[in-house]
Amino acid sequence: MAAVTRTPLIAGNWKMNLDHLQAIAFVQKLAWSLQDAKHDFDAVEVAVFPPFTDLRSVQTLVAADKLPLAYGAQDVSSQDSGAFTGEISGAFLSQLECRYAIIGHSERRSLHGETDEIVNSKTVAALKHGLVPVICVGETAEDLEKHGSAAVPVSQLRAALEAVSSDADIVVAYEPVWAIGSGKAATPDQAEQVAAELRKVIAESLGEDAAARTRILYGGSVKAANIAGFMREPNVDGALVGGASLDVTEFSNIVRYQKHVGV
Ligand code: PEP
Repeated sequence: MAAVTRTPLIAGNWKMNLDHLQAIAFVQKLAWSLQDAKHDFDAVEVAVFPPFTDLRSVQTLVAADKLPLAYGAQDVSSQDSGAFTGEISGAFLSQLECRYAIIGHSERRSLHGETDEIVNSKTVAALKHGLVPVICVGETAEDLEKHGSAAVPVSQLRAALEAVSSDADIVVAYEPVWAIGSGKAATPDQAEQVAAELRKVIAESLGEDAAARTRILYGGSVKAANIAGFMREPNVDGALVGGASLDVTEFSNIVRYQKHVGV
């Protein structure tokens, strides 16, 4: 596999938290806190994923204050426009200068019945509209017991990448469902093993170049105290952070993992 440097990405998934006014205050504080600490945003990219209703406010703030933060949506419709009540088109999100869209988060899969086929069609739609899909895959505790850790994420990713072109810019997030919001993170070694398998899937589906350049994140109970262990692993290129992304100090410390713990 070609040797490339992948810029680590620390991404905060706010889920259904923080309204648009709270979002403005939060993003301002986050940017100030990281800029005060002289964070190198080119060395470790930072992205937030607010609810849809916050995105216009975040866009306005980021543009007006030239904040070095990326942002994205937590979901995207597989459709472009039309009679799809409640859906949000990728075209609308790219108009708001979203860089990313999370696709197939385990909460969408389990609470909203999102199948591998839906995740694939959303991935294709995101790419069509110039968004980088953050494709989430991960096994439940039951899957883990029955099939081991990698089998389900591998098959979910294979399905998500159907008909995706080899030059597509994607991010993959490995999020074991049993680790999300449980306080019980995977070990760095467990994350590395699955991330390495997922990189092989990218190589098979999109080619070696794509596998070498694509960032694979770990997600599930990441906090400042455990991030460094994940970031030491060669196939883990960042983190998708839920609960801990709602606390400015904690999230800044995760972003600054190189400074406060050393890698
Ligand atoms: C998530 O929901 O994507 C997540 C990783 O949550 P948490 O960090 O709270 O486990």
